Amino acid sequence: LIEMRADDPAYPKPGSAHISAAMRGNRKRDSRPEVALRSILHGMGLRYRKNLRIRLPELSVTPDLVFRGAHVTVFVDGCYWHSCPMHGSQPRRNSAYWRAKLAGNLARDRRVNDALAKAGWTVVRVWEHVAPAVAAKTVAKAVAMSRRSGLAGPSVEPEDVVR
Ligand SMILES: [Zn+2]
Repeated sequence: LIEMRADDPAYPKPGSAHISAAMRGNRKRDSRPEVALRSILHGMGLRYRKNLRIRLPELSVTPDLVFRGAHVTVFVDGCYWHSCPMHGSQPRRNSAYWRAKLAGNLARDRRVNDALAKAGWTVVRVWEHVAPAVAAKTVAKAVAMSRRSGLAGPSVEPEDVVR
């Protein structure tokens, strides 16, 4: 979800194994939980676009999955990068840098949610730690709800999967 660039001059070397592991898991596309979710959704007969760019007046955003007809966007959020309450942690080394980085991520998530909702998109955010089958159920529910209610679905926050 968050793209780290190797040429970012402020990008410090990871100070702990924990951060290294988190960074390795920080691929923008095709993270393991995302692939698992996609395959279940596909098996349920749901069709989506991957990494489709949506241009909004405030910003451009590329959700992990987009259900165009239903106007539903799905983000699989990494626990570390999006500060999951169960697994998000504040790194001790380079803490000022990382704190700012993580806070920036949260602020961006909120801006993205607001901009999408304002444009009539339903936003589903799934933590990467959520079992793919459970995540798929939530997504399927959001798509069904959104279809029933017409194009401009409400922003749903079902269960504990979504924040
Ligand atoms: Zn988590």
